[in-house]
Amino acid sequence: MDSKYAALGAQKQHKNFNNVKVKRMKLSDDNTEVIKTNGHVIQLNQQKKNNLDVAENVQENRKLLPVYAVKGRLLEEIRKHNTMILIGETGSGKTTQIPQLIHEQRLEGLGMIAVTQPRRVAAITLALRVAAEMNTEIGNIVGYSVRFEDVTSPKTKVKYLTDGMLLREAVADPLLKKYSVIILDEAHERTVNTDVLFGIVKLAQKERNSHKLNTLKVIIMSATMDVDTFSKYYDNCPVIYLEGRTYPVTIYHSKMKHEDYQYAALCAIFQLHVTTPANQDFLVFLTGQEEIETVMSNIKQIAKETPGPPIRVCPLYAGLPPAKQLQVWAKAPPGTRKIVLATNIAEASVTIPQIKCVIDTGVVKERTWCTATGAERLAVRACSQAAGWQRAGRAGRTQPGAAYRLYTAAEFAARAPHHTPEIIRCPLSSTLLMLIASGMDPWYFPFIDPPPKDSIQASLTLLKELGAIDNETNPKLTVLGKKMTAFPIDPKYSKVLLNAPDYNCLEEALSLVAVLSSENVFYTPLHKRDEAYKMKQKFESPLGDHITLLNVFKAFCKATMKKQWCKENYLNHKNLSYAVEIRQQLFAVCQRLNMTVTSCGTALDQLLKCLLSGLFTNCAWSRGGPGAGAARYATGGAAGARAASLHPSSVLVRRPPPALLYGELMLSRRAYLRTVSAIEPHWLQQVAPDYARRCRAAR
Ligand code: ADP
Ligand code: MG
Repeated sequence: MDSKYAALGAQKQHKNFNNVKVKRMKLSDDNTEVIKTNGHVIQLNQQKKNNLDVAENVQENRKLLPVYAVKGRLLEEIRKHNTMILIGETGSGKTTQIPQLIHEQRLEGLGMIAVTQPRRVAAITLALRVAAEMNTEIGNIVGYSVRFEDVTSPKTKVKYLTDGMLLREAVADPLLKKYSVIILDEAHERTVNTDVLFGIVKLAQKERNSHKLNTLKVIIMSATMDVDTFSKYYDNCPVIYLEGRTYPVTIYHSKMKHEDYQYAALCAIFQLHVTTPANQDFLVFLTGQEEIETVMSNIKQIAKETPGPPIRVCPLYAGLPPAKQLQVWAKAPPGTRKIVLATNIAEASVTIPQIKCVIDTGVVKERTWCTATGAERLAVRACSQAAGWQRAGRAGRTQPGAAYRLYTAAEFAARAPHHTPEIIRCPLSSTLLMLIASGMDPWYFPFIDPPPKDSIQASLTLLKELGAIDNETNPKLTVLGKKMTAFPIDPKYSKVLLNAPDYNCLEEALSLVAVLSSENVFYTPLHKRDEAYKMKQKFESPLGDHITLLNVFKAFCKATMKKQWCKENYLNHKNLSYAVEIRQQLFAVCQRLNMTVTSCGTALDQLLKCLLSGLFTNCAWSRGGPGAGAARYATGGAAGARAASLHPSSVLVRRPPPALLYGELMLSRRAYLRTVSAIEPHWLQQVAPDYARRCRAAR
């Protein structure tokens, strides 16, 4: 395999993944496991671990994990300290075992154990795994809660949930009283929600202490993180290092730089495919749904002309409905190779058994935010070294594995060790709304890494202009703001829904927001682009992409044989079905808020005005006259502008309007506006007078 891969330019770099991954965590010489608590070291004999490969049932298997082996000592530490940081290699059993060990000892008392995950798919699969290990139905003792899905019951004691869900719970109860143990997992990912939770749990602990309420234990967990910052933040709490050998992962780097990582990934996939046994599955890291779909269709094409075992390709990205995501965990038939094409959602926490080869393109699509223009950007960037190690780690979960990096060792060395915490680079309006709803003042909140002041200011200004808060210096929720927190979506879109009754269009707004909350509904296979394009024309509206999406959604709801209908119309059945589910959930919230659901019928400009009343910061004006240059726009208004073009997939590309609103500003090689609709320039003054005034003042 080495020589074949070398043809692509690979270079064998490290013999053993474990020894290079976290330098300070060396295994002791005699190969025993070590647990180190603030300098105090306990050693354990690891003979048992040699049996890992032969263990068959899940309950036996767990007993062989490093965490399980040191459980007595670990539980003692957990009993002793109310806050601790726990560092252990990926695969050592932190996420699946520690909550179980705590529960076995009933350390949670009458409360619950929460384990947060940055990603939905991780929360779900971990809960399923732990329920299986505990031999219980999911939703019983072990449950999970993710956006649009709550699988828990009054019996639930161990609850896996996304960090976003715990943050939402903090709105109803900032002291999080129903939990006696909160584990904030994958702390190194530094998602904005986890970052805020660091502060929420710290404050909740203090408050509960001073009011003599039940004690809250907090465990911050990760494989790699900046422990000093964290320990200091939590009043010098103890840091516990857990050492344990997972399976070795051999790392290969590309010998030369690749201009086109998609092409390089395809080369690597097929070189490995023809040289490795079929029971070794591959995991390929890509950046997003469209790219995954393109590569998936390429693989299917190439596979027809290539020798080797049959292939099953499984996509895995955030927008995929949960049930579809779980198919990644289904075993491929014997003799078939599974190739999982995933975004960075498969980077941490998850275990996909049978993955033997990881192919790492080394890139990630990252959301950034320009506080000056208020525009969100989605850009493809090189990922951090920590992400590289996490990705490689996915190959060594249930057997030894290999990671093929499609970038050179020098490129890797030049990368940042960790990525910038999301809170520094993302829009904060959603998060700040939650914080304010929990009764906190964003200006005085104890962030572990405070976001830039102008970012807080810009987000508060937006919330003020949306009508969610009363002022920006000492913000309090308005009645409207309180209602906005009831929807599990971006405040801009909850504003759209809450305004919809005034525009007589809640019926349509619900459908539209639901489709926008799902993923791309159009299915455009490369080799059938023209047919797909022709079908899309059936739904096209001259008003733009939003109404086109609404037409698709309405037609889908009417269709009887939905799967067949989607196939004929080149539409994505799973994403449309997911949109229907989301609509039901949003509708339920509207009912709780006593909102009147009426339809605007054919008066679709009402719907567009309503959309603009939430998305007023997303306007763009044409820069060119009629003709070829007319698809060039200038975005923003209140604080500067940037040039961007209509995305080629937009229905407005052929007749670009003078003014439009866009769903997304995407930066790849060029700046593109995606999901756009034509608007009348004077609407802005009507629907968002404060913002329009600010725009005029800035000009
Ligand atoms: P950590 O959080 O320390 O990275 P986990 O607790 O997630 O580790 O997993 C520990 C080990 O348990 C994995 O390396 C794997 O061997 C096993 N495991 C966990 N989840 C699954 C699963 N869904 N299927 C098979 N094995 C699993
Ligand atoms: Mg984990």
